[in-house]
Amino acid sequence: MQEELDQWTIPRGYSMRIAGAKVTGKKKVRWVCYRGGEARHHRGPVDESLIQQAKAEGRRKPTTDRSSKKCGCMFKFELIETTKGSDLWVLHYPNDEHKVHNHGPSDQTSDPRARKLPPFMSVEVDQWLREGRQVSKIQEDLKARGFMNVLNTDLYNRKRMLSKHDSQGVGQDVGL
Ligand SMILES: [Zn+2]
Repeated sequence: MQEELDQWTIPRGYSMRIAGAKVTGKKKVRWVCYRGGEARHHRGPVDESLIQQAKAEGRRKPTTDRSSKKCGCMFKFELIETTKGSDLWVLHYPNDEHKVHNHGPSDQTSDPRARKLPPFMSVEVDQWLREGRQVSKIQEDLKARGFMNVLNTDLYNRKRMLSKHDSQGVGQDVGL
């Protein structure tokens, strides 16, 4: 279910995670926003030298700042099975204030999960890479199909991994 939901939310700049599931009787799964919870402030102020180092490396922010993506967003919903074992689900918002996010969509390319392709597309890309198709050509095809978030680096890495796996005769692993 995570995969199906990700295919819907991530291209839109949001993602959800499971916060709890009740598995006895009627199943119930609670989903909360990835940015739920408070930013972790306990690290204290970021060391000035880290900021300088990040700048020197051309990064905007020091890596220690990552946890600040959490912004207390209360968006959540629950999926409740209609009857025990039916595998039919109803969507339920625990309360009205939590039907919307308290933040805009995230920057897509910053989230590796946003760059992940659905399985059918990933299989096709693997095929293209094995055929030796150029990364720029693959990007064109991906964009034509609405997949805008795959980085060239992802494709080069994948290509390298494929040729390594193929030469070692290792089975298929998880795709892009
Ligand atoms: Zn949110």
